[in-house]
Amino acid sequence: MKSFLTGLGVGIVFAALLGGVGGYLWVSAEGEIQERTEITYATASAVTTRPDVKTHSEIFRRRTEEVSPGVHLAVGYGLANVIVIDAPEGLILVDTLESIRAAEGLLPWIDGLRKSTGKEITDIIFTHNHADHVFGAGVFLEGQTTTPRVWAQAGTQGRVHEIINALAPVTFRRAMRMFGVYLPDEDFENNGIGPRLLSDDQDGFFFLPPSDVVENRLEVKIAGESLILQHAPGETDDHLAIFLVDRKILLPADNYYHAFPNLYTVRGTPYRDPRKWAASIDVMRTFGAEIMIPQHSQPVFGKDRIENQLRDYRDAIQFVYDQTIQMINAGLTPDEIAAQIKLPPHLANAPYLQEFYGKVEYAARAVFSGTLGWFSGDPAELDPVTGIRRATLMAELAGGPEALAKAAGDALDTEPAWALMLATELMRLDVPEAQPLRAKALRKLAAAETASSARNYYLTAAAEAEGFTLPKPSFGPTPDEMINAIPIRNFVEILTLNLKADRVLDRELSYGFDFTDAPPLTIRIRRGIALLEDGLARDRIGALRTSTANFRGIAIKRLDPAKLLLAGEITSEGSILTMQEFLAHFRPPV
Ligand SMILES: [Zn+2]
Repeated sequence: MKSFLTGLGVGIVFAALLGGVGGYLWVSAEGEIQERTEITYATASAVTTRPDVKTHSEIFRRRTEEVSPGVHLAVGYGLANVIVIDAPEGLILVDTLESIRAAEGLLPWIDGLRKSTGKEITDIIFTHNHADHVFGAGVFLEGQTTTPRVWAQAGTQGRVHEIINALAPVTFRRAMRMFGVYLPDEDFENNGIGPRLLSDDQDGFFFLPPSDVVENRLEVKIAGESLILQHAPGETDDHLAIFLVDRKILLPADNYYHAFPNLYTVRGTPYRDPRKWAASIDVMRTFGAEIMIPQHSQPVFGKDRIENQLRDYRDAIQFVYDQTIQMINAGLTPDEIAAQIKLPPHLANAPYLQEFYGKVEYAARAVFSGTLGWFSGDPAELDPVTGIRRATLMAELAGGPEALAKAAGDALDTEPAWALMLATELMRLDVPEAQPLRAKALRKLAAAETASSARNYYLTAAAEAEGFTLPKPSFGPTPDEMINAIPIRNFVEILTLNLKADRVLDRELSYGFDFTDAPPLTIRIRRGIALLEDGLARDRIGALRTSTANFRGIAIKRLDPAKLLLAGEITSEGSILTMQEFLAHFRPPV
């Protein structure tokens, strides 16, 4: 049964939350009480930080403020801001931080607001699905008698449930690098749109499913407050902009913050269409807001200032898109476009468009790949010499690996990006100097970098070059109720994507998953691929029968399949050996 456990796993070790929300204790599959342990940070490197990057950190200094009477803002308690509106009939909570741990840090402030207003949270609004906006939600209900309504755009819940998806192992690693989660305080400066991300390999998540869903636009009274909830696709497709009609306050969510927009994120996401983002800002401009409070960075005051900044923001987005398209049509490759694209001075100099988070050249590359895919148009890239072969040829050209290493070392100060490229070739040849050279080059690049996403990625990669290993993700003290709300299909689908294809190139067989509380599914293996089918296939060689909660618990390594088998909680149609053999066809995701 070991393969079942690891095959399904999303790389995790733990179990049911002990005693509800609060604290970091949970029970492992072996029944042992687990405690959150200190995370292991990378070794400090004494890398320097640009003065402008240091100054930018001030925006996220931890604080709470009443932006306007009855509109409360908490900054710096997690990556994103939290806003509480003291509405006539209750408190409206807008966004909820990235983890149970982050939310617990802000709970005293929420408690204070409940006391001072004599009201409970009657409504929660999620501006979009990103972790830093949704995963602390359940924590804020502690001590409440009211069950709040939860508002979100129609796409939000499905996107949150993609926390169980086949790409989770790689996006976790890339996100941990981009957000510098494992960098020591000495090396970490900021996250461009916020301070440290309070979500690591041990944190738990507490999303609350939406009770009220907005498709496009909803003009509604919530807790006696007149609101417009406007679908505004931009940084994500499920964005909601919120307008407080009587207060003339706009909450633009993540479609505006005090930095160049992250039109591409290096942690890796689907294409963010700049045209949709610009169009959404145009809709927000029609509100004529007098105060704007983004979910990252700081409020903006004054109708004219808001209009100017929103207009510049959308113009910068359109400028990058349009100019990239022109250059694409002129036959330029992504590298050439990235080297040439530049905002015009009036936008490049705007303090709210500095490249502290997103970068213009990354945005241009994203437009290229989002519209034309990976091929640059240069035939030299259709069948390039790569990997060890290229490294070997480059070393030969340089006069041997030692000469290549010397060239990399010589370039460290003058052209660290070139030094990194050469050192990366040496790494492929297993030359011992390669990794120390890579680490040095990466830190040189980091020291010169404005964008947190690149700086943190460089610095974490430098630590990895020196032997630091990123931990595997887990679900920490995530409550079962959240895990069990995720469609069972998401969990089973991960199996199909992790087939050990080379072992079954000549085989065709199917196996059933007969859930006691959900429609059954079949996985069919057909010569190197696995398909997910509805129902139990008639030609199945067997089936396992269990509850979806058990299956989910096994998948996240919260429940021990061997114990469930012994307890009769998993039964099998056909022999247990058949079940084991079938499940052994799938490899654990990294
Ligand atoms: Zn955010």
